[in-house]
Amino acid sequence: MGFCYGVRRAISSLEKAAHESAPIQTLGHVVHNRQVVERLAARGIQPVETISRLTCPTVAITTHGVGPKVMAELQSRSSEIINVTCPWVKRAQRAAQRLTAAGFSVLILGDRGHPEVKGVLEWAGDAGRATDGTDIDSLWKEFPRRLGIMSQTTQNPQAFDEFVKRAMDRFLPQGIELRVINTICDATQKRQAAAIELAGTVDVIVVVGGKGSANTRRLAEICVASGVAARLIETARELDPNWFRGKQQVGVTAGASTPDEAIQEVIDRLNHMEVGVQCNTTSSASISTPRR
Ligand code: SF4
Repeated sequence: MGFCYGVRRAISSLEKAAHESAPIQTLGHVVHNRQVVERLAARGIQPVETISRLTCPTVAITTHGVGPKVMAELQSRSSEIINVTCPWVKRAQRAAQRLTAAGFSVLILGDRGHPEVKGVLEWAGDAGRATDGTDIDSLWKEFPRRLGIMSQTTQNPQAFDEFVKRAMDRFLPQGIELRVINTICDATQKRQAAAIELAGTVDVIVVVGGKGSANTRRLAEICVASGVAARLIETARELDPNWFRGKQQVGVTAGASTPDEAIQEVIDRLNHMEVGVQCNTTSSASISTPRR
């Protein structure tokens, strides 16, 4: 649990760059975690929401990546671009490009408004769209004969499996050719599998991470789906002893953008509450990059 490979890599690159090039502005938040954003701000790395708000000559593209139009605009107005797009997101961008080049429309199972999804769709030109899966019965009418299905990198693998099965049931009888590419990242798959295992051994799980973080929210969702109560918090201060009355074992897991210190503070505070604590043991230090 804690920082994944992509987040660790991004923060380390930005902090190194800040020594020479601060101030740096990032287009959007580097990761969806308030403590991390504040830590970077203290080192001269500030987020801006839109390109029109950029004022520094050095701009950073976040782990979520950008599409080709946004990239071209950044190149036209910034003297230096630091690109810390996660390699797993780059892999999804390349997959969208390849599908489009082969004549496929692109459908992404993910959050429509998420910056990663918007960026990947831009790589699919006008031939893409995102879905949360609820509109699958009517979706087939929107697409021509060839459809590529992909996932947001932080998608729940089980939800993606189910979506693909439903898509095959709906689309294949309409004569639509399907190509499926699983673009869920390795860190997400490992963290979610470990959280499901943990959920089977504890009474309640505390999920530590940014409330705006897609991967953190999904961890909480899959804990609940595994039949255990889950509490999503950003810091140890939010822990409420009432959540643990009558409980023997509390599990702790954390999103891919949660700093180690925030996790440790939660564990320390839980230990003071005298409940048994078990942790999601996925190693935050494991390095895994996508196969090309
Ligand atoms: Fe990359 Fe996955 Fe981490 Fe996102 S959660 S930064 S895609 S490794």
